[in-house]
Amino acid sequence: MRRIFLLGASGSIGTQTLEICKEHVDEIAIVGVSVGKNKTFLRQLLCENPGIRFAYAIDYDEELVKAFPHISFYWGDNGLLELLDNKEYDLLVNALVGFTGLKPTLKAIEDHKDVALANKETLVAAGDIVMAKAKAAEVNIIPIDSEHSAIFQCLAGSNPQDIKRLIITASGGAFRDWPYEALTKVKVADALNHPVWQMGAKITIDSATMMNKGYEIIEAHHLFGVSYDRITPVIHYESIVHSAVEYNDGSLIAQMSHPDMRLPIEYALFYPRHLPRKSYSYLDLAKIGRLNFKEVDYHRYKLVWAAFLAGRLGGNMGAILNGANDTAVGLFLAGHISFTAIERLVISALNNISYIAKPTLDDIFNSHDQAVNYINSMANKL
Ligand code: MG
Repeated sequence: MRRIFLLGASGSIGTQTLEICKEHVDEIAIVGVSVGKNKTFLRQLLCENPGIRFAYAIDYDEELVKAFPHISFYWGDNGLLELLDNKEYDLLVNALVGFTGLKPTLKAIEDHKDVALANKETLVAAGDIVMAKAKAAEVNIIPIDSEHSAIFQCLAGSNPQDIKRLIITASGGAFRDWPYEALTKVKVADALNHPVWQMGAKITIDSATMMNKGYEIIEAHHLFGVSYDRITPVIHYESIVHSAVEYNDGSLIAQMSHPDMRLPIEYALFYPRHLPRKSYSYLDLAKIGRLNFKEVDYHRYKLVWAAFLAGRLGGNMGAILNGANDTAVGLFLAGHISFTAIERLVISALNNISYIAKPTLDDIFNSHDQAVNYINSMANKL
């Protein structure tokens, strides 16, 4: 029986992870969970899963404590790490959204626990530190994101020296067919209308600016140890090819499936097995007929270019990129800045915040905070 701690249980990846676990109760036991503010969700989760023994929510709740006396609850700023102090688990599923996901990943690595990673910020902001610690502790970081899961699957059984390049596919986001000039008029509601994936607001915006793809390029570099000049993003309209690996002999291996996050989540939980799917219509290539690809235009998707720049420079640039973009997207969603101001502000933050080539973890946190403050102050001047 594999014991799991699931962070971010009430989010999109979290709820799908719960569904998968429900189908495999004979193999997987959820013993610890975290939610943010959604305590109604937590209450129901605890009722349905009598095996859960540890739980976290942001705010203290006396009724929950009384209703579930057998559960150890944790709350507040340090609660997430206190939750993980209970080391009675085998795999941490980190489905937290945002920079708060970094410390729990590091904590799990310190405790020699494998991590199934959906939290982007972990590797974007602190990839060098996280991967070095994971290597030293002999901990596996297993990707949940569909692109990285695809690459992970395409790499199975291969030799790292034989990799020519990684090809990361991108949908192009909600405005892929809009002329660039029209992007200044984008409204929040337009941006939330993603062509393929149903996701949260933040990641849907990151998909529209393709910052999300930029993050994934940085993550791929860290996860698979491939240099940036050997990572190529490509726009792919149908979201059937989730990414690919090209080998030195010219063989290009792609992973395909219908766009369905349950597949990469399930693979992360049961790797290296490919288990039968219950409610899945298997790919019918003849019915799909054709797949379309297009080069990424870096003039249009400036944040992809910015991610390559930040990634190549390394150091604290990922933390700046991440803190700046998070804040700028928040300001856009709140109606304070325009859609195109997101990329302008993020690039400005990369240009103006001091570069640290070999940052400590404290430097990473400071650079993140600096980027947040920088964007807020710049946005006020717009
Ligand atoms: Mg993705």
